[in-house]
Amino acid sequence: MLDAAFFRRWMTGAAALISREADRLTSLDSPIGDADHGTNLHRGFSAVATALEQEETPTPSAVLTLCGRQLISTVGGASGPLYGTLLRRAGKALGEAPEVSREELAAALGAGVQAVAALGGAAPGDKTMIDALAPAAEALATSFEAAREAAEQGAVDTTPLQARKGRASYVGERSIGHQDPGATSSALLFAALAETAAG
Ligand code: ADP
Ligand code: MG
Ligand code: MG
Repeated sequence: MLDAAFFRRWMTGAAALISREADRLTSLDSPIGDADHGTNLHRGFSAVATALEQEETPTPSAVLTLCGRQLISTVGGASGPLYGTLLRRAGKALGEAPEVSREELAAALGAGVQAVAALGGAAPGDKTMIDALAPAAEALATSFEAAREAAEQGAVDTTPLQARKGRASYVGERSIGHQDPGATSSALLFAALAETAAG
């Protein structure tokens, strides 16, 4: 079972990974966006790490809700509200349980992905974070490692797609041939989750 401390380790691990990969995320956002994705998420996850040190988070739900709130209030750009919605909706789905199973987390993240799709209007294949998040949430019902691999594959598979949502859609066919930055950062979140689960 996964307790609040597990969720805190996941989110601080994600913050560390995003800090390490921030330049790469920004580089990916350069040809098809406005070259700020790494900067945006680094700012947001730094706030997440600080908030987790300062505030009480007794349940998995409290951890995800706090993190989601931080991302919404500190990340500019599209990704802040979208990731914030993912975490807050998933947190809400977990209720007040002190511990949850991997399967329950998979279902909660599935609900979070639905909320992201509803907010941003993106479907699978539109070359967005949804292309990594949706298969990862589904694969998490199998294992942490399957979820990590599904997210990474989903991110890689955005490369040949033409973007239909977000700033990348503004460049039309020129978005083809570039991996989506948001799908790439989503893969980092699931990599951090698998690493936390592996101990
Ligand atoms: P912005 O593009 O506003 O500067 P970021 O650079 O932080 O925001 O994030 C860009 C990422 O957000 C994209 O790579 C994409 O994955 C994701 N994204 C943008 N718009 C949408 C949307 N409508 N639905 C889902 N994801 C989106
Ligand atoms: Mg951007
Ligand atoms: Mg921006």
